[in-house]
Amino acid sequence: MKRYRGIGASQGIAVGPVHLYCPGKVETGRIFVGQTAKGQLARYEEIKAAAREELTRLQAQCAQSAPEQANIFAAHCDLLADVVMGQEITQLVHSGQAMLDQAIEQIYNKYAAMMDSVGDPMFQERARDIEDVRDRLLRLCAGQTDGGMGLEGPCILAARDLLPSDTAALDRDKILAIVTEVGGQTSHSAIIARSYGIPALLGVGPFLSELHEGQTVAVDACEGELLADGQEEQWAQYRQRAQAFALRAEQTAAYLERPAITQDGVRVSVTLNIADPRDEELALAPYVDGVGLFRTEFLFLGRAELPDEEEQTGVYRKVLSAFGDKPVILRTLDIGGDKQADCLKLPKEDNPFLGKRALRLCFDRPDVFRTQLRAALRASTAGNLWLMLPMVGSMDDIRRAKTFLRQVQEELDGEGTPYSHDVKLGIMVEIPSIALLAEQAAEEVDFASIGSNDLCQYLMAADRLNGEVSAYYQSMNPALFRLIGMVVDAFSRRGKPVSLCGELGGDPQAAVVLAGLGLRKLSMGGDAVPRIKERLCGIRMDQAQAAARQVCRLDTASAVEAYLRHTFSPNGQ
Ligand code: PEP
Ligand code: MG
Repeated sequence: MKRYRGIGASQGIAVGPVHLYCPGKVETGRIFVGQTAKGQLARYEEIKAAAREELTRLQAQCAQSAPEQANIFAAHCDLLADVVMGQEITQLVHSGQAMLDQAIEQIYNKYAAMMDSVGDPMFQERARDIEDVRDRLLRLCAGQTDGGMGLEGPCILAARDLLPSDTAALDRDKILAIVTEVGGQTSHSAIIARSYGIPALLGVGPFLSELHEGQTVAVDACEGELLADGQEEQWAQYRQRAQAFALRAEQTAAYLERPAITQDGVRVSVTLNIADPRDEELALAPYVDGVGLFRTEFLFLGRAELPDEEEQTGVYRKVLSAFGDKPVILRTLDIGGDKQADCLKLPKEDNPFLGKRALRLCFDRPDVFRTQLRAALRASTAGNLWLMLPMVGSMDDIRRAKTFLRQVQEELDGEGTPYSHDVKLGIMVEIPSIALLAEQAAEEVDFASIGSNDLCQYLMAADRLNGEVSAYYQSMNPALFRLIGMVVDAFSRRGKPVSLCGELGGDPQAAVVLAGLGLRKLSMGGDAVPRIKERLCGIRMDQAQAAARQVCRLDTASAVEAYLRHTFSPNGQ
């Protein structure tokens, strides 16, 4: 049996015939030879109209089968109507510098590259949208209409990559699994596959030329494997494992609607991390206890102009009102580090994670900070706002930020602009210095949320994005759990709410330890909610406390992992 390794981007196992989806690439520079610029520009209008027609049809189809994905097509229509790109294409054709298809390719590539350069996964996905619309236009230039994927029966879809419109239009009843040569955890294909519950194995590397249409393959996204050339008894084993997995997944999904209450009756709040308030995320509001982390960076990334107060107020209101009385922890701007924003024109730094990031940047740009605070406070009348400061390193940082907030409140009072006077102010504990001063910090603020992603990075001195040092970025190191325990104690003793909103909160093994350390609120991405609730419902708090004590006594991350695996999932679940 042949094995290929990839990234299991959506868990699950499937066996079936493979469908090789290899859309041809349109070669530019031949289609419009000898045509006048005027004729090409007239054709450009026809092509855009035809593209719009295709997109509208796909949107209508998708609205029936997958309403949450239908807005991708609306976003693609907006790209078609983009005035700046349209003008640049027209200019190139008009001046004779390029033929229509070349101009489309050049300008769309330019904007896709700009989005990619932001270095943020969300913007990389926007770049994929731009490429998707580019390919649609080029196909239409060549006189080819959208022929779909040609799926007949249930199959394993194999492709080099899938465009956003491919995945949004997928007929999910016909797809057993997705496997691609490129792509990773945060790619569009991964996100859609997870939301559809379709197993997906991505980034396998070149394999398409080694398979033939219709041959049986298995995808085991749990183990990160694509298997080909097997015997019938081997496929039978995979079919059995697929069934067992599907049964377990169904049991886990049922926990979404339940509260997380341990077997001895201790309730742990489960809240949501939101990075871009899409409708699918807001739709989870009834099943969670609020938003534990509303990252506001998306409003500032990939654009030349800063978002103004009105735009920000509108977005914050939308999220606050979706969650009603439930707390929404809005984190003020955390740009810098890995997230760069053109609209802020930041200087290049040698060590951006140790540089002018987040609150430090806000202190440097009072205009930006004040506008965000004003917008957040104005939106506070729509729900239950808690404001949170990222990258707090000292008590000076807290006091300085409080002065800003007070000034903005006075300004709003002076104008008679309404806002809630009950807004809580808290900090992210993600720099070790403030974790060590948690007792003092807890006197100064209303709440804290532990940012374990950065706390781990700064504690272990290992860049969270650098694959070369990922072995040193040990989120299961006992040192991190000890520090978290100290912060939880300091805030809890003063009756101040404390939560955790890093990736660790969405890991079932870690969640047991965190609950044992005294955390009663964990925040995570929507996909983690059912599995964390299931895990917490399956344990007793005294077990969790014993696990936390034991973990803090151990001395390596691997010892912690082995202990948790052995104690809480002896069958490898
Ligand atoms: C963290 O650092 O743990 C966190 C939640 O914030 P971000 O990942 O946005 O830095
Ligand atoms: Mg952080």
